[in-house]
Amino acid sequence: MGTKERRNRKTLKETESRTCMRCSCSLPRGDLSYVIQIRVFADFDEWLVEPREGVDQQLEELMKQVEQSDPENLEKEVYEEITLVLCKSCRDRFVHEIQHPWEGPFPIPMDPSRIIH
Ligand SMILES: [Zn+2]
Repeated sequence: MGTKERRNRKTLKETESRTCMRCSCSLPRGDLSYVIQIRVFADFDEWLVEPREGVDQQLEELMKQVEQSDPENLEKEVYEEITLVLCKSCRDRFVHEIQHPWEGPFPIPMDPSRIIH
């Protein structure tokens, strides 16, 4: 009676696995996961709005706003970097959603023949 030793690849600690940041499924080590990096930054179109009041007053108001704002939030308004770790299915969905933002979070395929081939 020969004993066949099965090689179990899942011997890594569970704690070492990562989780998908969207659906919370675990991403076992060695499995493919996807990293999405989003950079959101303020864009200035170089169009200066004609000041209704004096420039001094506008500047004063701006300074007041800056003083009242949390510097961390202020920085985020100018530049923010978001990193997401996703599983394959969430990655597919994410990519589809950002490419078709007008379809909403639950897009209904308009042309099923394109999917079936
Ligand atoms: Zn997921």
